[in-house]
Amino acid sequence: NNNGRSNWQMYSASSSKKGELVKTMDWQAKIRNALDLQRLTLYYQPIYDIKNKTISHYEALLRMLDEEGNIISPGQFIPIAEQTGLIMELDQYVVQQAIRDLLGFQSQGQDIHIAINISANALASAEFIQSLTQITLNRESLHGKIIFELTETAAVEDVRATADIINSCKRMGYHFSIDDFGKGYASWFYLRELPVDYVKIDGSFVHNLASSKEDYLFVQAINNVAQGLGKKTVAEFVEDAESLALIEELGIDYAQGYYIGKPAEQLLKDGDISHLDGTTDATNNVTAIQK
Ligand code: C2E
Ligand code: MG
Ligand code: MG
Ligand code: MG
Repeated sequence: NNNGRSNWQMYSASSSKKGELVKTMDWQAKIRNALDLQRLTLYYQPIYDIKNKTISHYEALLRMLDEEGNIISPGQFIPIAEQTGLIMELDQYVVQQAIRDLLGFQSQGQDIHIAINISANALASAEFIQSLTQITLNRESLHGKIIFELTETAAVEDVRATADIINSCKRMGYHFSIDDFGKGYASWFYLRELPVDYVKIDGSFVHNLASSKEDYLFVQAINNVAQGLGKKTVAEFVEDAESLALIEELGIDYAQGYYIGKPAEQLLKDGDISHLDGTTDATNNVTAIQK
């Protein structure tokens, strides 16, 4: 009868919720373990300065190793970490490690910038800001070399307060970027309210650039507004020569994506970007197709 059926539905809903809970707790334990056993590592993905034709920046991307040594991507564990206090510990680890790495790269003569993803929680934490002050103290070489990327996933609660914190971090020599611009519902609001230096155009607008007139219009509009506001622009998910050519044609400042280079344990070597030289020819081709 009807009653039995609704009972069954209730049972099924609560048991699947229980399954979710167990999964979340499983992941929490895994993250906890990875932090304690130092099974965390940073990969670096190059970001190409289009005008100067050099790799000027690298983004630090977190990887976790499980018991069997498999590499786990942040998409699988960052959202769970964000629901708990673990995200703060992860962000602390990443900032410390990325800065250690940057000092190492500098001692090898590499003059680069490092982009670090941080959650809104971190930025709201007095302890976190305090540690940033410590890090830059007496380390002139780090000044202007570190960029924090902010996404909307852990929504900024108080935009005014966040803007103030960003400004005080900028006085310490840190730079800021809005990540995944255009994907979240508050992107334009953040662009207007937060004193960031860079805007990273979300990869979903970029990866089909060569075949989608609509995406081209979105990317063009975002770039015009962002540059009009004095920000540098970055296109993520640049996956082929045609997209890079269009991005260059639009006057976007930086390109990042598998076509430039994949995230890896090491920085690119000289000569690893020779495939980017032919961009100008590709521009002519694509422009011819579009018109
Ligand atoms: P994100 O910051 O937008 O980073 C870009 C993601 O896209 C990276 O995935 C990168 O490997 C991937 N990607 C780069 N180029 C291409 C491309 O051409 N095509 C495609 N399809 N994908 C590309 P990853 O490393 O799995 O990171 C996923 C997200 O996790 C990041 O997105 C970032 O929001 C977050 N994340 C990564 N590391 C950290 C971290 O240390 N702390 C925090 N809080 N979040 C992190
Ligand atoms: Mg990022
Ligand atoms: Mg991004
Ligand atoms: Mg993204």
